[in-house]
Amino acid sequence: MHDNAPDDRYWYDLLVVGSANADLVIGVERRPAPGETVLGSDLAVHPGGKGANQAVAAARLGARTALLARVGDDSHGRLLLESQRAAGVDTDGVLVGGAPTGVALITVDPSGDNSIVVSPGANGRLTPEDVRAAAPLLAAARVVSVQLEIPLDTVAETARGLGAGARLVLNPSPPAPLPDEVLAACDPLVVNEHEARYILGEAAGDTPHDWAPALLALGPRSVVITLGAAGALVADSRTDSLDHLVSPTVGAVDTTGAGDAFTAALAWRLGRGDDLREAAAFAVRVGAAAVMSKGAQASFPTLEEVDAL
Ligand code: ATP
Repeated sequence: MHDNAPDDRYWYDLLVVGSANADLVIGVERRPAPGETVLGSDLAVHPGGKGANQAVAAARLGARTALLARVGDDSHGRLLLESQRAAGVDTDGVLVGGAPTGVALITVDPSGDNSIVVSPGANGRLTPEDVRAAAPLLAAARVVSVQLEIPLDTVAETARGLGAGARLVLNPSPPAPLPDEVLAACDPLVVNEHEARYILGEAAGDTPHDWAPALLALGPRSVVITLGAAGALVADSRTDSLDHLVSPTVGAVDTTGAGDAFTAALAWRLGRGDDLREAAAFAVRVGAAAVMSKGAQASFPTLEEVDAL
């Protein structure tokens, strides 16, 4: 479908199947060496995780969004549910219990360099059975977005369970080897430069213009490579096209979550019927808006803020 109206067969523009983490952040003068203890700032707790971030980013733009995820029966899980609901995300698909909520322990020094330890917790317990049990939710979404902070089997089951005509958007982060059946279901595969190099390995050419056709050759119907301040490259096997979408020039303050904002915006616009190039042209503006303020979910723009860019 390539008109601009949402398709009323679907209740959701976007279903995100992914992770939800509490980001526990402490500012330090210096990150500790092995065996060393340092004193830091007051603890700040932020909702995060790539799945939760993408759901909030899409909902803030106005997308009808649902999240399929797992959190623990604990205060971090409640924080994550509250932040999703505050953004307008349908959380009926968020499962509670089985393990503590996923946590990222982050220390940041004054130069902005950080050290991060992630405990996947409940994210690692989001199983293929959970996806099968959520079949009506999958069937109700025009676009399904997944990342790799949940088990790969669960990602593969999501790809198998898509409703007829639904589209899978995969951001393989953190990068891991992908089964052919998952690659073949991607439309598009969304990667940054690091992820593209990981997937292509030795075969990676020198430039993103080399990577796009090489990634397409692995099976996805389309590929998007995000290029930070330089925008994004879009390659579509259907039209045999390769387009560079330039990002607006903005005063970048913090790029945390830019990739999640980009992917959520892209997925939403695909769900609204945009073609890939149009959706990516919108997504680079959303990514640019997201780097203009600090934080991840706190930096995701509304549609009005994107229009004002
Ligand atoms: P992150 O891991 O920081 O969330 P990423 O590496 O997945 O990001 P990027 O390619 O850095 O993804 O950024 C995604 C999109 O955000 C870009 O395609 C671009 O539209 C926008 N963006 C990122 N950095 C900038 C910047 N400095 N200026 C303008 N736009 C930016």
